[in-house]
Amino acid sequence: MSEKIHVLDSTAFFRGIPFQGTGRYYTTYHVMDEVGSRGIGAQLIHSRVQVTEPSKESLQKVKQVSAKTGDLKSLSEADASIIAVSLDLASAGGDVTLVTDDFAVRNVAEVLGVGLSETNVRGEWKQITWITYCKGCRKEYSDSKATICDVCGTKLSRKPKSS
Ligand SMILES: [Zn+2]
Repeated sequence: MSEKIHVLDSTAFFRGIPFQGTGRYYTTYHVMDEVGSRGIGAQLIHSRVQVTEPSKESLQKVKQVSAKTGDLKSLSEADASIIAVSLDLASAGGDVTLVTDDFAVRNVAEVLGVGLSETNVRGEWKQITWITYCKGCRKEYSDSKATICDVCGTKLSRKPKSS
């Protein structure tokens, strides 16, 4: 039985961290570079998502196909890397779904036979911003590294921000 694998591009992260659902999550270092600059909690990502790099062979294949389809100019390094990693994981026997809203990425992935999912799947994708707060006195902390309340000494908790 093959394992369910989701490969995430940056549009998936901008829509929200994949927090629910089963299976394994992958992304690439190029995508993490894009995502990191937008201030999404790296710690949360690393607890759920495995960051990897594509093989040169798969990357080459992606560039060849995107040149044929006319998508080469639209594909960033991150875009190409994410399609290539999907190919690598699929050829290793995984049941791979590439999660992206990017039109060029979808187009090239489709030609290469990579399974696709849009990021905007209700129930599975959830936008989460965390708040660090004190259960004792309810003080909220913007410094997410804080662990003990400086007012009452209670160990701090985290909760999703309701917006
Ligand atoms: Zn407190």
